[in-house]
Amino acid sequence: MNLVEEIKKTIRDVPDFPKQGIMFKDITPILEDQILCSGIVDGFIKEITQKPDAIVGIESRGFLFGVLLANKLNVPFIMVRKAGKLPYKTISQQYGLEYGTATIEMHIDALQKNWNVLIHDDLLATGGTAEAAAQLVKQLGANVSGFAFVVELGFLNGKEKLKIHSNNIICLAQY
Ligand code: AMP
Repeated sequence: MNLVEEIKKTIRDVPDFPKQGIMFKDITPILEDQILCSGIVDGFIKEITQKPDAIVGIESRGFLFGVLLANKLNVPFIMVRKAGKLPYKTISQQYGLEYGTATIEMHIDALQKNWNVLIHDDLLATGGTAEAAAQLVKQLGANVSGFAFVVELGFLNGKEKLKIHSNNIICLAQY
């Protein structure tokens, strides 16, 4: 079985979570399979054409493979967190949700100017969160060299929102 098939077979679909009408793609069974976890990291590495200077991972499931990937590439891992969670001085970015807005933050000294940064999350849905993370990267004077997701919900067209930052959008498994 190839990597995409393994990912799709292992992800658990949870209907109506966290609310009615959402089919939640639960990656917790993937984390229980250490061989598949390594396969996912290797899958990303195969698709990365230019080694980034850092991996930026989005709270909270973007931390899981984000750290593994950064470690394997031997580059720093940077956390993007929801407002109020990071202890030191932060920059912030607001973005729109279906109803209302959300804010994400990054430490003010997390990235160096002109670094090429790969943004990672477990899943690309509408792209709003990853786009806001890209804005944070740019606020610090760094460049977005690409995005990497384990899963893409293609019918939500999230890639379109990200293309203004980079056309290099890695998605291992698509729905
Ligand atoms: P978005 O900003 O719409 O691309 O949403 C991306 C964020 O929401 C990611 O952090 C995902 O983990 C989470 N997310 C959105 N939709 C789903 C879904 N159907 N299953 C699992 N996670 C989701």
